[in-house]
Amino acid sequence: MEGKMKAILKTKEEKGAELQEVDIPDYGPEQILIKVESTSICGTDLHIYEWNKWAQENINVPQIMGHEVAGEVIEIGDRVENIEKGDFVSAETHIPCGHCYQCKTGKMHICNNMRILGVHKDGVFAEYAVIDAVDVWKNDPSIPAEFASLQEPMGNAIDTIAAGDVAGKNILITGAGPAGLISVSVAKAFGATQIIVSEPNDYRRDIAKEMGADIVVNPIEEDLGSIVYEATEGIGVDFVAEMSGNETALNQALKLITAGGSMALLGLPDDKVNIDLTNDVIFKGIDLIGVTGRKMFDTWYTAKRLLKSGRVDLEPVITHRFSLEEFEKGMELMESGNCGKIILKP
Ligand code: NAD
Ligand code: ZN
Repeated sequence: MEGKMKAILKTKEEKGAELQEVDIPDYGPEQILIKVESTSICGTDLHIYEWNKWAQENINVPQIMGHEVAGEVIEIGDRVENIEKGDFVSAETHIPCGHCYQCKTGKMHICNNMRILGVHKDGVFAEYAVIDAVDVWKNDPSIPAEFASLQEPMGNAIDTIAAGDVAGKNILITGAGPAGLISVSVAKAFGATQIIVSEPNDYRRDIAKEMGADIVVNPIEEDLGSIVYEATEGIGVDFVAEMSGNETALNQALKLITAGGSMALLGLPDDKVNIDLTNDVIFKGIDLIGVTGRKMFDTWYTAKRLLKSGRVDLEPVITHRFSLEEFEKGMELMESGNCGKIILKP
């Protein structure tokens, strides 16, 4: 398609990004072009904006930022099947190679040659975006575009909660960023009977309550241990969803899991962490489960069902809505932590 579009580009190898007019991108035979209806900012986008060490190693400028998206199919590559113009779609953001051991054995989401939308190729903070056919997800038309774009981070929450056996159990979620917040509601839908959330940020603890947390704790000012034991008849929690990436939170949580319980780890520590494997994991017989990305596409089916049935309502997590022009406000809010999910709309 000929023409120009607005896009948020990382143009320099330093902090910042720019809104520019660029050509509407070309798409290949196994790709589609979508008109973007809604996007959302992820912590990864903030890392790219801030130009941290990870971004310096992974991003080639100039590049369009963003990966969480929902939009309408406008153009379709020659070899793409089962997708029609006008379809309302979202995108899985992991782009698998299709031929490695993981891809060939039903684990495309942890492909050995993984590329990521908005990280290794142009992203979606724009009026139009190109999506690889393998990543296209047809949305249910009843799901609002803002929620549809949040299915990607929601998928992280789903896989983390689904990694444990939470039905009828007491669980702890450490970290109530967007991932932790969505996990509260997912855990409720999965039948957890008591959900304790630990989060230092007041603003986020309030949203956790709205999402259905039974107990919210400020781990800096309160004694998380005694609150957990009191709430669980001295047993401790059966399952922890670690969503902070914080070493202190991780160690605190390991102590609060009852022997035989489990922890799913989504949070990414910046550095190597120290844990007492002997006493906190091995002797307690605890399962530690790493979670990355979303199963392609089991997780997306679950997200669709949870949203369509209303079992999960993402409205409380969406705290701000901005136009592409206002993206810097969004980045500043993300830096402050006083936000849930921030929607960006072209
Ligand atoms: P976020 O940074 O917005 O949320 C982390 C939260 O942890 C913050 O609200 C912070 O205040 C809180 N926190 C800090 N110290 C704490 C402590 N001691 N106890 C409890 N909470 C504490 O991130 P997010 O977008 O919600 O994502 C959650 C984590 O998951 C991040 O580490 C992110 O990098 C990671 N992530 C991993 C994957 C994956 O595929 N594994 C995908 C997306 C995000
Ligand atoms: Zn692969």
